[in-house]
Amino acid sequence: MLYCLKVSRNRFAFVLMTALCLLTACSRAKDSGSASSEASAPNIILITVDTLRADHLGCYGYRAARTPNIDRLAMEGVRVEHAIAPTPLTLPSHTSILTGLEPPAHGVRDNGTYRVPEAAVTLAERLKSEGYQTQAFVSAEVLHSRYNLDQGFDGYDDELWNEAGASDFMYRERAGQHTMDRALKWLTARSSRSSEDAPFFVWLHLFDPHVPYDPPEADAKLSPTAYDGEIASVDRQIGRLLAALEQQNVLDETILAFTSDHGESLGEHQEATHAIFIYESTVHVPLIFRYPRKLPAHRIYAGAARSADIMPTLLALAGKRPTPTQGADLSQALAGASPAQSVAQYSESFHPKLAFGMAPLQGVRINEWTYIRAPRPELYNRAADPMELRNLLEVASSDSAKAQATKLESLINNIVEDSGRFGLVSEAQPLDPQTVKMLQALGYMGDVETQEDLGGMDPKDGVQIFEKVEKAIVLSQRGDWASAAPLLASVLEQLPGHVHARNVLAMCEVRMGNLQAAREDFLKSLAHKPQQGQVLLELGRLDFAEGQYQSARRRFSETLELLPDSVEAMILMGYLESVEGDTAKAAQWYERAIAADPSRPDAYLHQGDIEFQNRRFKQAQGWYEKAIGVSPRNFSASFQAGLCAFYLGDLGRAERHLLQASETDTNRWEPLYTLACLRARRRDADAALTYLESAAARGFDDLAQLQRDPCMASLSTEPRFLNLARALGGTIP
Ligand SMILES: [Zn+2]
Repeated sequence: MLYCLKVSRNRFAFVLMTALCLLTACSRAKDSGSASSEASAPNIILITVDTLRADHLGCYGYRAARTPNIDRLAMEGVRVEHAIAPTPLTLPSHTSILTGLEPPAHGVRDNGTYRVPEAAVTLAERLKSEGYQTQAFVSAEVLHSRYNLDQGFDGYDDELWNEAGASDFMYRERAGQHTMDRALKWLTARSSRSSEDAPFFVWLHLFDPHVPYDPPEADAKLSPTAYDGEIASVDRQIGRLLAALEQQNVLDETILAFTSDHGESLGEHQEATHAIFIYESTVHVPLIFRYPRKLPAHRIYAGAARSADIMPTLLALAGKRPTPTQGADLSQALAGASPAQSVAQYSESFHPKLAFGMAPLQGVRINEWTYIRAPRPELYNRAADPMELRNLLEVASSDSAKAQATKLESLINNIVEDSGRFGLVSEAQPLDPQTVKMLQALGYMGDVETQEDLGGMDPKDGVQIFEKVEKAIVLSQRGDWASAAPLLASVLEQLPGHVHARNVLAMCEVRMGNLQAAREDFLKSLAHKPQQGQVLLELGRLDFAEGQYQSARRRFSETLELLPDSVEAMILMGYLESVEGDTAKAAQWYERAIAADPSRPDAYLHQGDIEFQNRRFKQAQGWYEKAIGVSPRNFSASFQAGLCAFYLGDLGRAERHLLQASETDTNRWEPLYTLACLRARRRDADAALTYLESAAARGFDDLAQLQRDPCMASLSTEPRFLNLARALGGTIP
């Protein structure tokens, strides 16, 4: 009998180590509408490069920039000098770009916990109703279709599962090159279909400049900072797009809009990245339009613009009727046909409030003035103080400064009031009385009532706390749990209700093996914020690992009530059923997981395992090969597929899979041992012995197994075999 172990997927490790994957990718292909197409309508491509400060591009005056392709867009189009993003947060800001509404109107105030309201009218919906073919390619989990920004897109490519695994506490992301590969493939396929006469709208989101900064080596070498290296690398992808459009002869009949969702503080105002403050460093974004049919080349638009202006401007440039938004159609002004308007540019950040209990920030810019509403309000004159460092309400408080602040304060009120007319409210998650009960029973519920009140601390005073959490996250990403934990503990001492810090700490504890402490922290986190599906899932995982199947099952059901799309929970449910012996139910859960996200390998693997355990190797092989199809470098899938083929007598196929497994994980000896068996069966003693020696070099040392394995019998008199046996401490029989 062949000594081929079923790959031992340690249950405990499996349950714990796949933790905090926030992904259920799915690409929705909605039915195409059959609106009539207009032959002359231009194509539209909207490019958003995440986390891109305007002043780090060559065309915005940055001398060290290596951004020839973005600069080319500016040379051949109109560059907006002062475009302001509505918030330094990815999902809310993109929602403004795609709806023409400010955050108080669309209601999406933070990442991860908000969904774009169904009733919002997106640019994609508008263009689809005009006969456009609509397609999006996004590069980060934070824009996954579950957040509902896919409204109106025929195709929404958010399949990020095949990318390298995300570290803990990081959004799963896709390198710009991969996103561009997919977009170019789509464009090429489309252009080759001669029947295709509908114009297209493509939204292309590239994430590279976002932390962690990890540019290709050449870009790192040639750029002053790693952040600039990421920008240089993303610029090259835009070059590929321009080249493809030129090659297809559609560049000039395509409206190109280029912008970002927010900038990056890079240490200014004591903030390393973005999310808290709304100074120029995080809200001044690039904005460029290129469309030679209607817009001049090499023009700088000196007027003010907002992300909300993008949708009405694109509709106008495409000759489509406007739709009610809070933005302005800038098409005439960009072309120089009408004077630039002075407009109030609104920005906010609710992240300090929603994640930290601090005060939210709301601000407005008009002409040279910046005003920020905060417990300690701020007023800057950017003509004299472009970095917004001299708060005129503090350093030189005068009556005229106060009067100016009052005027600007009223502009914020106007924008918030105006937002009411759209009647959109973000879909809030309801409180789940079951969870509350459970927490009360556990004695944690008291925390909620006596929750610390930060009294709406000014983010200027609280930014150190934010930076501490960020630092702990960076340490965790590097696996330095022991250094991250005390940082988080010190934050929690000051802010016991800081759910995010609490969850990160709990995950550090899981990683360090302090499961009881992890459990307590997850429960405290739920006490402060009961509706956290992911935390319930993590608690279920702990229960599962400790053999408490009943309560694990309850946690996973609760997760699915809150997050019906959680593929993670479906797979854990299936795994739980199979551990408890109900493989039929397990298979049902895996089917559900596959339907929800066909791009993940794990459900296929589990399906394969069920068949394998029942010795239905043909069926098992089919599932494992499906897993390989979506994840070619998956050790378990290749090894298991190899074993199945071996059992089925398909030795050529077995060898291919086993070699792949051996290459995929060079620490595992099992594929090599199995290959030795396979070669021995083929009466190829030399190759068999070579594999066996390689297996020993990788740590195989089970002499008894070697001596009793019938598969090795034909080798047992070979001198190399005897040498190996001796090396493993055996005696010559
Ligand atoms: Zn972003």
